[in-house]
Amino acid sequence: MEKETKAQKKEIKVGSDVKSKCGACKELCTHIVVSMNEKKVPLQVRCYKCGRSHLYRPETKARTAGSKKKNPDAEEWLRLSQKWDESKAGGYSMTNEYKNGSLINHKKFGIGIVRQNLGAGRMRVLFEDGLKLMCCAEG
Ligand SMILES: [Zn+2]
Repeated sequence: MEKETKAQKKEIKVGSDVKSKCGACKELCTHIVVSMNEKKVPLQVRCYKCGRSHLYRPETKARTAGSKKKNPDAEEWLRLSQKWDESKAGGYSMTNEYKNGSLINHKKFGIGIVRQNLGAGRMRVLFEDGLKLMCCAEG
């Protein structure tokens, strides 16, 4: 016999309402799911309040409350993410040239910002996970 879990999650699908942080409204508000990935996690959402489409940003209270060790990179990322316009982020390709401050929408790591182009086809990109060394075209 199967036991039904009480906290059964409501299935989210495209068109569902989800709570997401909105960069324009600067608060957690209701968004409609525009697209999602194969893990049933929303990717793009649109804000009911301001009508802007952006990447899904779930509530991250636990993280900012310092649950584990403090990650200065994550804090920096969070601070910068308030200002940037995600719609300007291009997909990542190691054959592209990137400048300091370029936004990248990485399939796995999400939105990142080029902190330092080291030359010779290498650059440091700040993602929510932290700084990563990535390849790019030589400028
Ligand atoms: Zn909004």
